[in-house]
Amino acid sequence: MARTNMTLRKAACFALVLLLLAGCARGGAPVVGISAGWDRGRIDVSDAYAVAVRAAGGVPVVLPPVLSFHEAVEALSHVDALILTGGEDVDPARYGEGIWNETVEVNYRRDTSDFLLARAALDAGLPILGICRGEQLMNVVLGGTLYQDLPTQYTTQKTSVNGTASAIKHRQSEPDGVGTHMIYLEPDSRLREILGADSLMVNSFHHQAVKEPGAGVRVVARAADGVVEAWEYDGIVCVQFHPELLYARGGDTTFLPIFQDLVHRAR
Ligand code: MN
Repeated sequence: MARTNMTLRKAACFALVLLLLAGCARGGAPVVGISAGWDRGRIDVSDAYAVAVRAAGGVPVVLPPVLSFHEAVEALSHVDALILTGGEDVDPARYGEGIWNETVEVNYRRDTSDFLLARAALDAGLPILGICRGEQLMNVVLGGTLYQDLPTQYTTQKTSVNGTASAIKHRQSEPDGVGTHMIYLEPDSRLREILGADSLMVNSFHHQAVKEPGAGVRVVARAADGVVEAWEYDGIVCVQFHPELLYARGGDTTFLPIFQDLVHRAR
């Protein structure tokens, strides 16, 4: 009997140590939720987001698509920050438009989940990083609109940043870790401060972009043709390019501070 008590006591001590260790880990490194897509029965997201979050000192956790607002709130109660990742186009109905042409590709299940996660994260005041689709989606959540297809809708725009209006290929064929066009950052922006440069070469895998910024959205970077490449909103940084691929595939540490900033804000 005494032996059993001893074993039980040892087991209890061991469990307590494990709990304490788990508590330390939770307190030490912020947990960053990564929104995932859904593709024919599989949860679908690039590993590059997890690689970048880990390198920035965070604990990456993939969030499967959620089905209700309640589930979104519950899921986000376990994370300290949220990355809204790249993927299909946002349903234009979300900003009051019909589908412009056959290039627009919508995943309704993904839209449902991402809009619920975005709204719940906003309500909870979680630090948010939106990337590509995530950047566009957050703008729509905040009341903004999108160009549905840059090649057929944006050509009429005359905006340019550095005086040149030459066409820029926003859907590159080069490898995903390689930068192919410049972006120009606004002074006094958080992104300019984080990255420490006025202009940078980025990768580009989009045919849509922010049109009308949502309420309170400040555009902080554009390509030379005027296309929005980054914006900020109270604790939220959103980028049109893919910093996670520039780091994880291209080995470029220039953009790692975007993830470090998110992890820092999550502490
Ligand atoms: Mn671009």
